[in-house]
Amino acid sequence: MSKVLVIGAGGVGSVAVHKMAMNPGIFSDIHLASRTRSKCDAIAESVRQRTGVAVATYAIDAEDVPALTALIRQIGPKLVVNLALPYQDLTIMDACLAAGVDYMDTANYEPKDVARFEYRWQWEYQDRFREAGLMALLGSGFDPGVTSVFAMWLKKHKLKTIRTLDILDCNGGDHGQAFATNFNPEINIREVTAPARHWLNGAWVETPAMTIRENFDFEGVGPKNMYLMYHEELESLARFIPEMERARFWMTFGDAYINHLTVLQNVGMTRIDPVIYNGQEIIPLQFLKAVLPEPASLGPTTHGKTNIGDIATGEALDGSGEKTFYVYNICDHEDAFHETGNQAVSYTTGVPAMIGAAMMLTGAWRGEGVFNMEQFDPDPFMAMLNAQGLPWQVKELAGPLEF
Ligand code: NDP
Repeated sequence: MSKVLVIGAGGVGSVAVHKMAMNPGIFSDIHLASRTRSKCDAIAESVRQRTGVAVATYAIDAEDVPALTALIRQIGPKLVVNLALPYQDLTIMDACLAAGVDYMDTANYEPKDVARFEYRWQWEYQDRFREAGLMALLGSGFDPGVTSVFAMWLKKHKLKTIRTLDILDCNGGDHGQAFATNFNPEINIREVTAPARHWLNGAWVETPAMTIRENFDFEGVGPKNMYLMYHEELESLARFIPEMERARFWMTFGDAYINHLTVLQNVGMTRIDPVIYNGQEIIPLQFLKAVLPEPASLGPTTHGKTNIGDIATGEALDGSGEKTFYVYNICDHEDAFHETGNQAVSYTTGVPAMIGAAMMLTGAWRGEGVFNMEQFDPDPFMAMLNAQGLPWQVKELAGPLEF
């Protein structure tokens, strides 16, 4: 029985709060704060109608550390779950330290003025959290999040060592829009337009964004083009699975998405440096976000499935030589919408956020300091995925990916 404060009332926050309300034995008292209180109220109303559970709401600027610290002290939660944007990670960690409360998020900190995806800034909080006897859990979404838990589950149950790891993220959903992103457009486009990087023999190999493409036949979706990208869990996986020779991350994009993105890039609309417009400074990518559909609005029209998983090759635990396993989840956009009013990209992030919070609140995952998902026993998390709407499957493949 625990009190939790969720910060951020977007698609991911909405799913997480709905799923917390569906698990009242763990989340007995739910509070939701975000920049725009009306969005918190809309989520609270949906939760009340679907579950009968009351959620308290607040307006807060999570970059204002004194105000946030005061709000945390006033509410007195056992855990703060940060589902706002990566820009707010450090200020929310600061407020948690000041108020003496545990912290969790789903995406690593990014400075606003440069698209750099690194755990360094948050890992630097290690001593402060440990000395305060507090726990911070980083990256408890799907990717990062479940993808790291999948790798650790394979390492616990199937493979003694992981030699190569490929994370495959496929969104086979169709929202009927010419161009839209499935989560925060600014964060999504920053990620997609950043150079690709993969881990090879102890070093990062950088290639230009969206230049390495392969085709893969995804169960439940069909064949899709996927592109090599950098994704933040590669950094923590390389750290916690040190024997890994190669780790790569792939994400599918349709031709229409790529064409739109190419044009937007060519005309400068994805720039994150300020430009003067009508005597005022604007960031082109933030302006673009304002004219694109809100990801949360895509729910009612999106159909199709997502399929996200890990393919790992290494020495089998049972001594039978080198083996390859594929562990993955398939999630249906319409089912996700029916359950929480949000499409599957928010669902596949919000459910693991709720599970990560449950791991911390129940004490299944416990420690003092700053932790990544790879550092805990994957079994209780994997069990909750099955029970909470993201069932996974594992199968043995004939061999590693041929590319
Ligand atoms: P949205 O843009 O839909 O929601 C973000 C919310 O945060 C909005 O309600 C926004 O308020 C609020 N917010 C922004 N700035 C502040 C601030 N300064 N103070 C308080 N609240 C603020 O994003 P999503 O729900 O799609 O994504 C949420 C998070 O989840 C992001 O960090 C994203 O990177 C992460 N994510 C992680 C994934 C994973 O698998 N690990 C996958 C997808 C997303 P307002 O409504 O006023 O703008």
